[in-house]
Amino acid sequence: MTDRFETLAVHAGAAPDPETGAVVPPIQMSTTFKQDGVGGLRGGFEYGRSGNPTRKALEEAICVLENGAHGLAYASGLAATQNILYLLEPGDRLLMSDDVYGGTWRLADKVWRRYGIETDTIDLRDLDAVATTLSSAKPPRMVWIETPSNPLLKVIDISAVARLAAVAGAITVVDNTFATPYLQRPLELGADLVLHSATKYLGGHSDVIGGLVVTRSDELAERLRFHQNAAGAVPSPFDCFLVMRGLRTLAVRMERACANALVLALWLSERPGVAAVHYPGLPDHPAAELVERQMRLPGAMLSFEMSGGEEAARRFAAATRLFTLAESLGAVESLIELPAPMTHASVAESALAVSPSLVRLSVGIENAGDLQSDLEAAFRSAGS
Ligand SMILES: *Cc1c(COP(=O)(O)O)cnc(C)c1O
Repeated sequence: MTDRFETLAVHAGAAPDPETGAVVPPIQMSTTFKQDGVGGLRGGFEYGRSGNPTRKALEEAICVLENGAHGLAYASGLAATQNILYLLEPGDRLLMSDDVYGGTWRLADKVWRRYGIETDTIDLRDLDAVATTLSSAKPPRMVWIETPSNPLLKVIDISAVARLAAVAGAITVVDNTFATPYLQRPLELGADLVLHSATKYLGGHSDVIGGLVVTRSDELAERLRFHQNAAGAVPSPFDCFLVMRGLRTLAVRMERACANALVLALWLSERPGVAAVHYPGLPDHPAAELVERQMRLPGAMLSFEMSGGEEAARRFAAATRLFTLAESLGAVESLIELPAPMTHASVAESALAVSPSLVRLSVGIENAGDLQSDLEAAFRSAGS
């Protein structure tokens, strides 16, 4: 009998401790482990950077939830990204969505370019353009998908892109931070690697920075494991414990947050003062049929354009009471931000730049009516 997601989220990696019966995996702070004679390791642990029991529990949990074979944990989402990029060699090309997370783009463009990795960005929704790029004289070695995207919530067809990439011998990576494995499981759709900023929904409470990678490939896992230890950007045992705690409520948090987001998206799309709403759960979303096929629910992130322009957007974002004006996303509390001057400031001059009147919401698990009233009051005080 196979357990379903909600059950796995509670139990994966969290079996009671065989020694003490502790129901919660203990936070193991020891940095080194006694050997029974030279090389005689109990449970495979030697030194805390190479492996740690609390980290192992988290790695097992995310591996089960993403339906993979190997899980790896890192100190941040970008440390996980960095580890994946170690799979490339100087001279390799990397193909990314044209609206990836700003920090991912910065790492590729400002750091890895110096080491001879060329990054191209295209709209990965355009499968003809993907096929053309992958059949060029020097095809990319890796394709980097982020779906739904930030902040415009574009949706990319994971299985179609992964199929094209596989034919060209390229590795497909999916940044699954916005969807979480509860909504979308990229490895089941043909991706080679799935990446998370665990700082967002998986941790879920705005109190831990972390990153995770899952794969089904023994070969890729071995190379990642080597670099996880060699480069050393590992999470602390306490941080692993916090992400584990978050995972256990992931399914119920996502259900509520997605339900709230749908209520707000429908309401915003009717409200005067709003020029456009970007939410994958709206019937007029350009990829509505793909969302239905690829995701369990359309997520809890949405963005919208204020008709009143940049000034109205700034007044609005400063006027909410429940929505906190802050970067980041994916926690129990609702957050509001303006991507252009905040999360996307580093891409202001590039092709990834976004409109200054765009407002992004990370919808939390509060009462939907309270959230709507909060936004309505903010519209009024912004004169919209
Ligand atoms: C936050 C984020 C990252 C980076 O993760 P950190 O934990 O902040 O290093 C990567 N991708 C997406 C989609 C994110 O939202």
